[in-house]
Amino acid sequence: MQSIDFYNDYKYCSACDMYVTYLMSIHDSYCTKCGDKVRLFSKKDWEEFNHTPTPKKNKSSQTRRKTLGFGRAQ
Ligand SMILES: [Zn+2]
Repeated sequence: MQSIDFYNDYKYCSACDMYVTYLMSIHDSYCTKCGDKVRLFSKKDWEEFNHTPTPKKNKSSQTRRKTLGFGRAQ
């Protein structure tokens, strides 16, 4: 729980090019270091987040299960 709160205290500032602590206003959040607007993810992280295919995860966990069972049988 504590770590989740800690993580939420950071957003990405493109001006600083890093995750920073921020000040929240009604509509936007602002970097405490330079005062620029911050966002939840960096552009790179956001693209990774959007392009990560979710069905693959199910497949790999299934494969892992199968492999485990097979190893046990031997
Ligand atoms: Zn900044």
